[in-house]
Amino acid sequence: MIILAADIGGTTCKLGVLSEELTILHKWEIPTQTGQEGERILRDIYESFKKNAAHKHYDMDEVLGIGLGVPGPVDFDKGTVNGAINLNWSGVKHVKDEFEKLSGKPVFIDNDANVATLGEKFKGAGQNEANVVCLTLGTGVGGGIIANNELVHGHNGSGGELGHFKVDQKERFQCNCGLKGCLETVASATGVINLTYHYYKELQFKTSLEEAIQAKEVQAKMVFDAAKDGDEFATYVIRKVASHLAYAISVISVMTNPKYIIIGGGVSKAGHFLIQHIETEYQKMTFKPALKGTQIVTAELGNDAGMIGAAGLIKQYVK
Ligand SMILES: [Zn+2]
Repeated sequence: MIILAADIGGTTCKLGVLSEELTILHKWEIPTQTGQEGERILRDIYESFKKNAAHKHYDMDEVLGIGLGVPGPVDFDKGTVNGAINLNWSGVKHVKDEFEKLSGKPVFIDNDANVATLGEKFKGAGQNEANVVCLTLGTGVGGGIIANNELVHGHNGSGGELGHFKVDQKERFQCNCGLKGCLETVASATGVINLTYHYYKELQFKTSLEEAIQAKEVQAKMVFDAAKDGDEFATYVIRKVASHLAYAISVISVMTNPKYIIIGGGVSKAGHFLIQHIETEYQKMTFKPALKGTQIVTAELGNDAGMIGAAGLIKQYVK
């Protein structure tokens, strides 16, 4: 038997055919057609699976199920998406029902951060442990919590939205969610930039970033690179970012006591450098029994995490 999976994004959908052990057999991409309120997206995905079956030698009769990762708030039990801005979907969309009707197969859906977490658990840095947490640091901060082998969805699907709890008590920066001081405002790529401007103004450090700061052209990668080169100001900023992340992780540690805390997304490409700073702060501030044996690691699957995790939904929930 095989599993079909799609990681649906605002510009492309990553499609894959996977084995029951979640090994990728084939993968390809199609553009996401968001016109006409994105009404073609699901049909395009299904048609592409069907069309490629002949080319890539798999049989639609052997499909165990289809897993979908969606960039928006998902009600896991109902299989619905409540407004996905990037896909131009508004209102409640019955994705599971629609896709089951199209394909005649069992379908499971979850949000992009959750499927990426499941992917990393099964085939990546999570080493198939029962308790794993993933933080994806990109333009924003995505999160996923797996406790006792189950993704935590909570009563309305907001469980694991780790980008949006307040870590900056001074509430210095506005978050996209409408609140101030969320983890996302100080630990995403945007957060790195926020803190760079903020501390430059406050502390008047000498720094190699000065020109970029004056021109308002700072990018997160520039700050990491400068810090790696020994720039004192950049290092100061990265320490602040790391300390906010450490605080978030220390709270998560006493909640679900994960074995692995996986840091993914573009910002995590800073790799060992960032992890080291997080680790130091984390050790200082976390309840000792909760940090024993917990490891902070970088994600391993890159862009495939979502697709593998979407297939993982089928491995986990279709028997
Ligand atoms: Zn927020």
